[in-house]
Amino acid sequence: MVRLRTPTHRRCERCGRREHWNDESWVVVRTDDGPVTGDPFCLHEWDITGTFSPIATTDGS
Ligand SMILES: [Zn+2]
Repeated sequence: MVRLRTPTHRRCERCGRREHWNDESWVVVRTDDGPVTGDPFCLHEWDITGTFSPIATTDGS
């Protein structure tokens, strides 16, 4: 059996932009200091890229 796993947060390795998933799309995380948008010209390198697997396998019952 497989089920989808969806990440709920991601952060850019390059500029520090942080986003969270709101069930429809990624939105920028806001803090008391304002949205954490990072560098608008950055080619964002999300910390979930490459290591995150969208498919989770379960074994047993
Ligand atoms: Zn970035």
